[in-house]
Amino acid sequence: MNIHEYQAKAVLREFGLPVSNGKAIFKAAEAEAAARELGGPLWVVKSQIHAGGRGKGKFKEPEAGEKGGVRLAKSVEEVKTFAEQMLGRTLVTVQTGEAGKQVNRLYIEEGSDIETEFYLSMLVDRETGRVAFVVSTEGGMDIEQVAHDTPEKIVTFSVDPATGIMPHHGRAVAKALRLAGPLAKEAEDLTARLYRAFVAKDMSMLEINPLIVTKDGHLKCLDAKISFDSNSLYRHPEIVQLRDTTEEDEKEIEASKYDLAYIALEGTIGCMVNGAGLAMATLDIIKLYGEEPANFLDVGGGASEEKVTAAFKIITADPNVKGILVNIFGGIMKCDVIANGVIAAVRAVGLQVPLVVRLEGTNVEKGKEIIRSSGLNVIPADDLDDAAQKIVAAVRQR
Ligand code: ADP
Ligand code: MG
Repeated sequence: MNIHEYQAKAVLREFGLPVSNGKAIFKAAEAEAAARELGGPLWVVKSQIHAGGRGKGKFKEPEAGEKGGVRLAKSVEEVKTFAEQMLGRTLVTVQTGEAGKQVNRLYIEEGSDIETEFYLSMLVDRETGRVAFVVSTEGGMDIEQVAHDTPEKIVTFSVDPATGIMPHHGRAVAKALRLAGPLAKEAEDLTARLYRAFVAKDMSMLEINPLIVTKDGHLKCLDAKISFDSNSLYRHPEIVQLRDTTEEDEKEIEASKYDLAYIALEGTIGCMVNGAGLAMATLDIIKLYGEEPANFLDVGGGASEEKVTAAFKIITADPNVKGILVNIFGGIMKCDVIANGVIAAVRAVGLQVPLVVRLEGTNVEKGKEIIRSSGLNVIPADDLDDAAQKIVAAVRQR
């Protein structure tokens, strides 16, 4: 789960990290009061969307003005003008795709005098199974570009969970950023606090770009992006409250209501599979035969007929779906339950596209019989390879 910058900064503030004062607003009419309360003389009006690259982004509507999604304002009047221009408008950045994202919230923040911009992020490194730090002196710009052109400018290390964060980790960050004296001390303190926040809140990613040195010689987190591990949200109700579903894929929201592991993808073949491993293999084999999957969907081990129906509805609601592949290995999940779910769903939502069903495992004969006798136009398949070829062929024929 992702949250907005202003929410991420509030989380960081709880852990004593240096962030600027700011106010989130939802209406342009709130801009003036927010600006006056902050006092100035410099403000930054920041679009709050779940995507980066806002500073260099462009609005679609001419009424939004020429400037990007992060604007420096030198007067209360200017804050008001920017708020009126930006709210409700569509911001396109390198991360939003062409469609862009509507800006429904703004963060009015104190302007900082920037001496230097650094990059710092943390993530769960799957290779080492540890929390890793990624640090670079080249902040504020495209870090992927830096990684590509000058990888030596990026320093990474991971933290052994058995020891937790240690003073030497902080020194490693300070060294990577070439900081000395009191600023090095600040970097050490910041490193420890960031790690504590990361672990305590079950984050999966935390990115501060830029982390700055102010003109008066202090570190500050000027931007903050946080993703949380969705599997841990049950123990963080305060984080769940920060969820902004308008930023999420509608199909994914619907899927989460039924506890389905669903991720929307770009292709045309909708997939319903049980088990994450089998779901991944299904995506791979669709690609192998030259088509692209429209989604990842794991209905789980103990899915009910209701859950299968919901899953099927979500898949068919995607206008890009030109064909559906149901691939179930009945273990805990029984093939007849799946078959009944599929039939019920097809009856409820209709079937506009070809449907290939491959069943294997517990009660497979019962399942196949249910599908055969349903009279519905379902293409049966014997194994995964056969199923993938059949759905690819069916999609291409349309
Ligand atoms: P994004 O990464 O989405 O473009 P940022 O929050 O990093 O958004 O803002 C873009 C740039 O705007 C920053 O690199 C920084 O130079 C400037 N900026 C952001 N917040 C402030 C602030 N409070 N004071 C001064 N400059 C800021
Ligand atoms: Mg940034």
